[in-house]
Amino acid sequence: MFGIWGHDKAAEITYYGLHAMQHRGQDGAGIVINNGENLKLHKDVGLVNDVFKRVNFADFPGYAAIGHVRNATQDDGIFDNVQPLVFRSLSSSTAIAHNGRIMNAEKIRRNLEEAGSIFQTTSDTEVLAHLMKKMNGKNTTEEAIIAGLKQLVGAYAFLILTEDKMYVALDPRGIRPLSLGRLGDAYVVASETCAFSIIGATFEREVMPGELLTISNEGLKSTRFLLREPRKLCAMEYVYFSRPDSDLNLVNVHTSRKRMGIELAREHPVYDADVVTGVPDSSISAAIGYAEQCGLPYEMGVIKNRYIGRTFIQPSQELRDQGVKMKLSPVRGVVEGKSVVMIDDSIVRGTTSRRIVRLLKEAGAKEVHVRISSPRIENPCLYGIDMLTKKELIAANHTNEEIKDIIEADSVEFLSIEGTEKAIVKDKTINQGICAACMTGNYPVLENDQRKEFYRK
Ligand code: 5GP
Ligand code: SF4
Ligand code: MG
Repeated sequence: MFGIWGHDKAAEITYYGLHAMQHRGQDGAGIVINNGENLKLHKDVGLVNDVFKRVNFADFPGYAAIGHVRNATQDDGIFDNVQPLVFRSLSSSTAIAHNGRIMNAEKIRRNLEEAGSIFQTTSDTEVLAHLMKKMNGKNTTEEAIIAGLKQLVGAYAFLILTEDKMYVALDPRGIRPLSLGRLGDAYVVASETCAFSIIGATFEREVMPGELLTISNEGLKSTRFLLREPRKLCAMEYVYFSRPDSDLNLVNVHTSRKRMGIELAREHPVYDADVVTGVPDSSISAAIGYAEQCGLPYEMGVIKNRYIGRTFIQPSQELRDQGVKMKLSPVRGVVEGKSVVMIDDSIVRGTTSRRIVRLLKEAGAKEVHVRISSPRIENPCLYGIDMLTKKELIAANHTNEEIKDIIEADSVEFLSIEGTEKAIVKDKTINQGICAACMTGNYPVLENDQRKEFYRK
């Protein structure tokens, strides 16, 4: 998500911001621009470049905008669910962009539908618009947003744009990343700080858990709408999802990954290997750290065709298998006759690791030792990262020994949870914690009935 208030090139800047964050979602993109009188939306399925190819930003004047790139966690890919969502009434319009997952969206929606609401999309995001609308009349927009947010359970970062204000909200655990910056007099907000770098904005601060920012021509106002709980920023943002040049919660992503590699080497070294290689792009930082710590050379054993999107995000296993093949190639001269340590950032379904071990062996590697710079992922993510069922998670169903056989490696080891925390968390103050529920099973946010189920086990 990207938002800007107070700049006469708002739409164009939002486009650049989204482009820098293309890796966060490739299923759809959209921008809503505010010209002071009404909100204009342009969105479509596909990549940012394609969606805005024919758009002339001079035709979209305005001084505020919000934008979104969508990573469909439901296999729908449909136009309606591409964000921002825009809701129009006789008196005003509201645009909403959301990152995360509203766990009780279905329940809320059922109640609302029984009371007569008609939904436009199947997106969990839409419930907030309806909850806000119910508060209309006697309340300010801000009060309506707060009343709506208080009913939500889950992980959420929201950008909401009306004709006269931009609102920015983060859930009380701050599970998803969200930063505030300045571009001259304008305010900018982005999921990742790499979007600030590209537009020449400066980082101001993190949006705080449980905080609502109201930005308007009068400036910025901060409200705490829910008690701030210890921050639980998604560990997978550091492990895999975010760009290395982004700082999340003041911790640089590349640096944290390199530290994960160092910790991994401390825990599971392979001293008699010949060479360490990573899997572009997400595990390069960790591989560099691992090699440095073990005193082994780091080499490019695998290269990536940069014109193919992230394999993980493709819908079916068949397509994913094929995608991985198209994407990665071994460098024979680096691996032939060698004992190779192959570092990847994570094993989710096991597709990538198996494919790469095979590639390396086909290219003549004598041994392939797989080292993973994150813990075993044994639990589904309930907060918006696309790992929803236990069934698909290889570590939920297999021991390390079995995984080693399945991916045809000579050995497999994972970074410990402690090592991961050490690599990411700088200090143990209240705002520095991480969510690692997919690794530990310790979920920071649960719905009431889930909590009961959880404690029964
Ligand atoms: P697998 O191939 O085991 O299903 O997925 C792991 C690989 O996919 C890793 O190389 C990782 O970089 C990449 N990956 C892509 N998307 C995700 C995601 O949402 N979560 C995780 N953990 N890894 C992902
Ligand atoms: Fe991130 Fe895992 Fe927590 Fe989901 S469960 S928010 S992927 S750390
Ligand atoms: Mg990867």
